[in-house]
Amino acid sequence: MVLGELGSALAGALRKLGEHTVVDEEVMDACLKEVTKALLQADVNVQYVVQMKKNIVKQVNIQELAAGLNARKLLEKAVFNELVNMLEGGGAEVKEKFVPKKGKPNVVMFVGLQGCGKTTTCTKYAYHFQKKGYKPALVCADTFRAGAFDQLKQNATKARIPFYGSYTETDPAKIAADGVERFKDEKNDLIIVDTSGRHKQEDSLFEEMRQVAAAVQPDMTIFVMDSSIGQAAQDQARAFKATVDVGSVIITKLDGHAKGGGAISAVAATKSPIAFIGTGEHIDEFEAFDTKPFVSRLLG
Ligand code: GDP
Repeated sequence: MVLGELGSALAGALRKLGEHTVVDEEVMDACLKEVTKALLQADVNVQYVVQMKKNIVKQVNIQELAAGLNARKLLEKAVFNELVNMLEGGGAEVKEKFVPKKGKPNVVMFVGLQGCGKTTTCTKYAYHFQKKGYKPALVCADTFRAGAFDQLKQNATKARIPFYGSYTETDPAKIAADGVERFKDEKNDLIIVDTSGRHKQEDSLFEEMRQVAAAVQPDMTIFVMDSSIGQAAQDQARAFKATVDVGSVIITKLDGHAKGGGAISAVAATKSPIAFIGTGEHIDEFEAFDTKPFVSRLLG
């Protein structure tokens, strides 16, 4: 179940409440059961769901309901609050959002499956910070996909961002290390390393990621995820997190049909906040992530 379906399921459960003239404990329980079911089917971690249910019950006091307050509104608000809470970590130790420190050579490594929008997102990220006065640079450590370097080069040139890569060197860790060293020397303060994605969660990909990470010692590792991935989100995010020290998530293609598939699961699996979202193919179709508008849209 993708997040869009989760939204409809939750909205459906809440709508049913409106059919009852009196909302007693029984009606409330039935509604909470549906809310819980929707979350579980969306692959949200069961511990989170149990906690969320408890928090909702705490917020919606049945006595208040008896006093004639609008049950649907109250419950809607509680579900909204809890989804926000969950996307912000739900009490788990989600890391602070990363802000590159000016004047320091911040190294940021991008990881994610092929096709998720990683290379596009690297340039968007660089451009975003360039506008804020940083001096970004791009390193292409993807030697697996033919054309990866050309793509990065083209994007970087358009945005007037320095880049580094090689047509002949086959060791991604070496390219990454050389590129980072070059841009440290050139006093770039945001050095972005794009890595290979391949198609599946192949062992060799993960080994390569490990090697690149060891070679460049990133200050931040960003996991890029396609929003339409749905059910696979949790496993995928977990697999990346188990290999490298993911500390941020970027969800791409939110301009498509998916309303944000798997975002909650990715946050839960990586214990990392969503830093940005991609909303189109163009370089400035990129936004800093804001939880509340996202959840409003989900329940909309
Ligand atoms: P990579 O293999 O992960 O490096 O993926 P690419 O950066 O090459 O992107 C794959 C495709 O997705 C390209 O056609 C991009 O233009 C497209 N893409 C990337 N981000 C977005 C986005 O936020 N919205 C849309 N609609 N397309 C995107």
